[in-house]
Amino acid sequence: MKKIIVAIDGFSSCGKSTMAKELALEAGYIYVDSGAMYRAVSLFCIQNGWMTDTEINIPALEKHIESIHIEFKTNAEGKSETWLNGKNVEDEIRSLEVANGASRVSTLGFVRRELVRQQQLMGIMKGIVMDGRDIGTVVFPTAELKIFLTASPEIRAKRRLDEMAAKGEKADYQKVLDNVKERDDRDQNRSESPLRKADDAIVIDNSNLSRDEQRKILRTLFSEKTLV
Ligand code: C5P
Repeated sequence: MKKIIVAIDGFSSCGKSTMAKELALEAGYIYVDSGAMYRAVSLFCIQNGWMTDTEINIPALEKHIESIHIEFKTNAEGKSETWLNGKNVEDEIRSLEVANGASRVSTLGFVRRELVRQQQLMGIMKGIVMDGRDIGTVVFPTAELKIFLTASPEIRAKRRLDEMAAKGEKADYQKVLDNVKERDDRDQNRSESPLRKADDAIVIDNSNLSRDEQRKILRTLFSEKTLV
């Protein structure tokens, strides 16, 4: 079977990583959560006191960008976890504070260039599923299978609220919805690699799809590209 690169892009909280992880597991491919890499950079800034609500210490971050080492390691349960400079940061990077910071550091050209360089190295042998915002457009423009995943902001906010509730966290629906819309706006309107569908990407709107229906669609598309 031919080994390919699968690029899954789309808005935040669309279920990209769930989709990407499942496919990688089934296909025996590497899974890379590129958003986790931007989150790790955001955490690095917070840890060093380089990020406030309004400002980022850009000179300090630029000076140290090459000392940020991000790795993905599989834990005992088979789950891929993010490590930053030798420390497991998987839980820390999932906070709202880190997510908001990630969407801000991801607008910086030098951050994107460094992370894209690392992501391209990870895909050199193919057999990889990577999800993010610019995977099919910038990181792997020649990826054999490109998916652009989307769902309405209201559905995504509701899903995020359910996820938070499952972890025992309380949040206000309107606030979560505003946050989803704010991040969409920043992702689509930044000058550096804005989120957009690659011309050859296949759009899947999963607003009204079950996990199973979505899985079937992806499996069919993957088979078409690999069974040649
Ligand atoms: O997907 P996730 O929400 O974890 O991504 C965190 C942030 O990183 C997003 O808000 C997005 O702005 C940014 N990102 C990006 N390019 C990627 C992946 C994520 O700009 N390839």
